[in-house]
Amino acid sequence: AFSTSSSASMPPLAKPSTNHYDMVVIGGGSGAMGVSRRAAAYGKKVCVIEEDGRLGGTCVNVGCVPKKLMWHAADMAEHLSEAPEYGFGDVNNKPAVPGFAWNYFAEKRDAYVRRLNGIYDRNLDKDGVEYLSGHGKLTGANEVEITMRGEDGKFTAGTHKVTGDRIVIATGGRPIIPSDDKIPGASLGVDSDGFFALREQPKRVVVVGAGYIAVELAGVFNTLGSETHLLIRHDTFLRPFDPIISETLQDHMSKTGLRVHQKTNITRVEGERGGPLTIHTDNGSPIEADCLLWAIGRRPNTDNLGLEHVGVKLDQGGNIVVDKYQKTNVDSVFAIGDIQGKALLTPVAIAAGRKLSNRLYGHASLKDDHMDYTNIPTVIFSHPTSGTVGLSEPEAVDKFGKDKVKVHTSKFVSMYYGMLEHKAPSAFKMVVGPGDKVVGLHIVGLGADEMLQGFAVAVKMGATVKDFQETCAIHPTSAEEVVTMV
Ligand code: FAD
Ligand code: NDP
Repeated sequence: AFSTSSSASMPPLAKPSTNHYDMVVIGGGSGAMGVSRRAAAYGKKVCVIEEDGRLGGTCVNVGCVPKKLMWHAADMAEHLSEAPEYGFGDVNNKPAVPGFAWNYFAEKRDAYVRRLNGIYDRNLDKDGVEYLSGHGKLTGANEVEITMRGEDGKFTAGTHKVTGDRIVIATGGRPIIPSDDKIPGASLGVDSDGFFALREQPKRVVVVGAGYIAVELAGVFNTLGSETHLLIRHDTFLRPFDPIISETLQDHMSKTGLRVHQKTNITRVEGERGGPLTIHTDNGSPIEADCLLWAIGRRPNTDNLGLEHVGVKLDQGGNIVVDKYQKTNVDSVFAIGDIQGKALLTPVAIAAGRKLSNRLYGHASLKDDHMDYTNIPTVIFSHPTSGTVGLSEPEAVDKFGKDKVKVHTSKFVSMYYGMLEHKAPSAFKMVVGPGDKVVGLHIVGLGADEMLQGFAVAVKMGATVKDFQETCAIHPTSAEEVVTMV
């Protein structure tokens, strides 16, 4: 959750205040904030090196925050279209939803993000963490070279070498776009960063991909009224999630106008940058679009990071390999957040960072503190929203065997939609493992995003079906279905 108060911002330091720090953090996103501020709270001398010219990283600048605001705008469009049925406006002649002023909203959204950037600056300053604007690169197991950014935004303000007892790499990742060699014209498309740079709403959009970003952004376009095509390689999107999520969403989003092209790959793109495009595929006629959005995954930011100087190990995907304490194969070098390739989520990066500092600098009772990568709750900001914690049914069957797994499902229409002509589904699944323990909960439907957090506590604590049953329902809500469905 974010709240904002004032907008004055602190500039980064012109140069490091010392040659040696307890901790040097490369990157200024979610993970960096978690680890650096917690280390400083233990009285450590810490610096954060960020090359983008603003703090906050992917989440704040081109991820969770501007995405959630776009989702809110789309959600508003849905409610406006439903308003007449709730008695607002011309109840007999359902009016068209007023046009969405994309650029007006984008400017407001960006101003909010800039306020957050300022708050991040001030938080570091308040905590005594030094913010250095520049590119960080390992030149030794305890040494980092910083190429400073000048006020003109260029990396021309000189270099400094600093040492750190601990170096934390929190450089995140960036979106992938196929090369033009592989798919001619692929670079005429944009990625999720480009989505946030759009200044007008494209009338016709092709989104490629089948993960969080593809489903969320295709959902935003579709709900805001763009003709939206989603191209997926297989039959369903969100394949790693429990089938109740992928099937319910794909079915419903298709009914609300999203054109899902199954088993479809782009072969060639023709047109002008920023202009109309003709998108050729291996399945069906070419699609005419004003915008092509690639959402096919992300790659780790390890370029020019000097990892080879110290022999930091990478996995096959180029992610930094760490142990459960976020330590790389080099004793003084740690990696947190997206760069280590597991659970690419902001709260994971923040928690891993805080826990690392707790373990390194905290009280003896925290000497084993580390991020637990199991039972991480996560939400897809789809339309309607969906959320998941724990094992999917297929994962539970794989882990415990089919005869040890029970599944309870509930499909219903929430009261909000009950009296509307156009309904959105709710679909819940509880996956139960040995000892009647709830090992997974998967929910789609109105309010799923806000509903999941509390239930995730129960799953994390190892709650059994009986614990759920013995919890009194809250009526009338959708959430009550979770405790009454068994
Ligand atoms: P980042 O936040 O990416 O920070 C890394 C920083 O390091 C960047 O600012 C980069 O400029 C800097 N950097 C890189 N290399 C260097 C270098 N050599 N020197 C100096 N600086 C460097 N997660 C959620 O939990 N919920 C969501 O709703 C959600 N929505 C998302 C929507 C989108 C469109 C995207 C793309 C991501 C979303 N995520 C979401 C994921 C979330 O943004 C990331 O998991 C999170 O930002 C990872 O934090 P991080 O600190 O590892 O990396
Ligand atoms: P994901 O890894 O989640 O999904 C990308 C998907 O695109 C793949 O799973 C794959 O699905 C499909 N794909 C891969 N390559 C191709 C290709 N060449 N052509 C067509 N489809 C392809 O990546 P995202 O970019 O969506 O998101 C990155 C991460 O950011 C997420 O994993 C998530 O952790 C985080 N995020 C979190 C959000 C949230 O918390 N709400 C929101 C947005 C992002 P398939 O194999 O089925 O084809």
